[in-house]
Amino acid sequence: MGSILVVTEILGGNISDTSRELLSKARELSQTLGAEVVAVGFGSESAQALARIDADRAIAVTGQAVEQYLPLAYERSLLQVMEQESPQLTMIANTTMGLDLGAGVAATRGISLAAYCNGLAVEGDEIIAQSQVFAGKLLAEAVLPSEGAVVTILPGSFPASEVEGHPTVTTVDAVSAPGMSLIQVLEPEKGDVDITRADILVSVGRGIQDPENLTLADELADAIGGVVSCSRPVVDAGWLPKARQVGKSGQTVKPKLYLALGISGAPEHLQGMKDADLIIAANTDESASIMDVAHYGTTVDILDLMPALTERLRGE
Ligand SMILES: Cc1cc2nc3c(=O)[nH]c(=O)nc-3n(C[C@H](O)[C@H](O)[C@H](O)COP(=O)(O)OP(=O)(O)OC[C@H]3O[C@@H](n4cnc5c(N)ncnc54)[C@H](O)[C@@H]3O)c2cc1C
Repeated sequence: MGSILVVTEILGGNISDTSRELLSKARELSQTLGAEVVAVGFGSESAQALARIDADRAIAVTGQAVEQYLPLAYERSLLQVMEQESPQLTMIANTTMGLDLGAGVAATRGISLAAYCNGLAVEGDEIIAQSQVFAGKLLAEAVLPSEGAVVTILPGSFPASEVEGHPTVTTVDAVSAPGMSLIQVLEPEKGDVDITRADILVSVGRGIQDPENLTLADELADAIGGVVSCSRPVVDAGWLPKARQVGKSGQTVKPKLYLALGISGAPEHLQGMKDADLIIAANTDESASIMDVAHYGTTVDILDLMPALTERLRGE
């Protein structure tokens, strides 16, 4: 029986949400392919975290070398697992760590890598990967070679697995990487909210014009039960924290409703939000690119629209 290897990321002793997304897709593919789902995790907390996930088997790689992400140690340890398992497909999250690790193991093993994937399907006996290319402007489909390709999956591409399982967990020793050591872990800026988990995003762009106008967005978000996110210039101006930024160099979001307010729709922004279920754009320029992806659009000035909507929603 073939296997699908899912590389999990464990944060604070828990499997990350993105890893759960990979697990749910792996389970779906495994049923069509008749393959086993084998999860791999790194660090001293991995055995415990992996014991509760929906996988057929799990491998916890432990040892000082993999206690924190150290590229060469992770890569060598994962290569050792891949050597033993010969997986048909290795799924890795398209995160900072995953992009590094996925490219490294694929190159070392001399196998194909499909990065920036947001779709995976089985057709006949072939696995087809869909990837975002050219900053999300195009979607490319690739037939993955049967001898074991690596895919890195964009966060938010699949629903997260809620299933609790009881895989057999095996522990293996990490492979160390002499010559490379961890000097310091720099914690990223703490996000006040996780915009990737919000169902409704009230997203503001440069059209907000002044930081004082953010109150209007906050009030609208409150009234509609959403969260405020933004385009990059708003972060660059220091008006909102980086954790609120949507796009290529920010977060990829897939809310039920994305209100794009005063956002032009640059490719780098669209890359992070174009898969939202419903996009409503407000932009005084009717030819703005955001209108091409929006399901509904209006050219009303957002400084008039936001308070009017808030008032309506509050039933005032
Ligand atoms: C490597 C790289 C990475 C990048 N990553 C990101 C990223 O992650 N996220 C991101 O967003 N950008 C990113 N960018 C920047 C991107 O190219 C755009 O510059 C940016 O998205 C533009 O933001 P904006 O739409 O808010 O501003 P603008 O392009 O200036 O658009 C403002 C819009 O508001 C409209 N407007 C103005 N006033 C009003 C009003 N009163 N009412 C209604 N509409 C109004 C205007 O018509 C205009 O369309 C990146 C760029 C590069 C090069």
